[in-house]
Amino acid sequence: MKKAPRGSTGKRTKYIFVVGGVMSGVGKGVTAASIGKILQARGIRVTAMKIDPYVNVDAGTMNPTEHGETFVLDDGMECDQDMGNYERFLGKDLSRANYMTTGSIYLEVIQRERNLEFGGKCVSVVPYIPLEVINRINRAAKLANAEVVLVEVGGTVGEYENILFLEAIRMLRSSHPEDVLLCLVSYIPSLSAGGTELKTKPTQHAVRDLNSVGLQPDIIFGRAPVSLDKKRKEKLSLMCGISEEDVISAPNVDSIYDVPLNFEKESLSDRLLMKLGLRPRGTDLASWRAFSRAARDAKREVRIGVVGKYFDSGDFMLADSYISVIEAIKHGGAAVHRKPIIEWIESEQFERDPAAVRQLAKYDGIIVPGGFGGRGIEGKITAIKYIREHKIPYLGLCYGMQLATIEYARHKAGLKGAHTTEVDPATPYPVIDIMPEQRKNMSEKNFGATMRLGAYPAAIEEGTIAFAAYHKHLVSERHRHRYEVNPKYIEVLTKQGLIFSGFSPDHRLMEVAELPRKTHPFFVGTQFHPELKSRPLSPHPLFTAFMKAAAERKK
Ligand code: GLN
Repeated sequence: MKKAPRGSTGKRTKYIFVVGGVMSGVGKGVTAASIGKILQARGIRVTAMKIDPYVNVDAGTMNPTEHGETFVLDDGMECDQDMGNYERFLGKDLSRANYMTTGSIYLEVIQRERNLEFGGKCVSVVPYIPLEVINRINRAAKLANAEVVLVEVGGTVGEYENILFLEAIRMLRSSHPEDVLLCLVSYIPSLSAGGTELKTKPTQHAVRDLNSVGLQPDIIFGRAPVSLDKKRKEKLSLMCGISEEDVISAPNVDSIYDVPLNFEKESLSDRLLMKLGLRPRGTDLASWRAFSRAARDAKREVRIGVVGKYFDSGDFMLADSYISVIEAIKHGGAAVHRKPIIEWIESEQFERDPAAVRQLAKYDGIIVPGGFGGRGIEGKITAIKYIREHKIPYLGLCYGMQLATIEYARHKAGLKGAHTTEVDPATPYPVIDIMPEQRKNMSEKNFGATMRLGAYPAAIEEGTIAFAAYHKHLVSERHRHRYEVNPKYIEVLTKQGLIFSGFSPDHRLMEVAELPRKTHPFFVGTQFHPELKSRPLSPHPLFTAFMKAAAERKK
């Protein structure tokens, strides 16, 4: 096995793996991100990675109701929503080196085999697949010049799916015993109504599952409704063979941003640094604490409606499908000292009953987020018309910008039947259409990673709402779409009062559309996804401006 990389200080890279026990969906990603945050606050250079055990090469082809939001990085990587948590917590841009799936690993190994790179050997699954995993972890650590690389392994221990990743951890640990820590985030269920009678047995079994593949956790995070009491910590310590101080409580929280602060109540960063033999360089969770306090102390509420279509599969999936939008609303809310109350509005109801749009008047601000396909689209357009006419602060994200453009074309520019060719290829007025370079991708019948993806620059026009938010002439924003405002219609739309306040530097692609402030307090649509770049300590300027407008409407 190749030697672990050394950082700029000449020290060996340290690895912290985070695996899940008992069941998925208990917040492994937030736990991993929080571990990263507290180490970063102690002056350690940290990077974070996610391993997803599925065969999909990336998360771009999955329906958000299946696997939650598809997050997009600057370099265009379409990945798991946990990558968003890492970026938000660490305040850093990550790259495709920080993400891998079973599919992507096999794809690379198979391609190398086809290129005769294995010198005639039989390429067996073990060790070659785990070795490729380790190579990628080392590559990411090196790229980020990280002292500590945090690696979250998706799924749950004991599953068939992630066994090769656990084998990679085992291999790495046996060659670098002092450099590897293994954290188990495990669910501690409670049978009593108050959530206090916690049961540790499932976690004991999870540890045995780890033991059976040659791994022993160093730290166990007990995910439970409440903090673990002394008795539960003793029990886990005794039955799982770790010290009591290494059993950390991970109780339910009102805000995920409190998780790092809770961990520090149990001196977690001290434990981690001691185990890894790293020396801290100061402590600085002050700005994080300040954000958490601002979010908690904001008492005055603003009501934000989100009009969309993935709203029929229960609250849990809903929150997952739109996690970056929700978080960006919270960041913007904290920045203007308001507490956002987010409500979901199913757009199809406005197709059945157009008069139902009147309910939108009760919102202080409304968002139409990104989306694909035709379902619920006419309902969204009906909603946008009402929002525009009734001067409700509006933020349209990607599809939300395209649909606002269509609504304006139909009802203000006299282009009856205007549409996007995504939904109506035969529309008389294709105001949203596919650009030649994207059409080429489409015809190849290969849909993976073929959209306009990742960061592109946008020029922002002075004297507009967008400029007032950014205070910048050139910004960089992340994209994930195939369709664009059709250049043929820009003139007529502009003449009728729609302002394109942001565009690609070559002026070909429209990036921001808005209405003049004298006709509407805040009506902005972006072809990009600002929510992907919003972070608690640097809220996205457009979300802050939107929340400010919503707060003003409330008054
Ligand atoms: N469906 C639209 C497109 O592909 C918008 C995509 C989105 O909202 N992310 O252009």
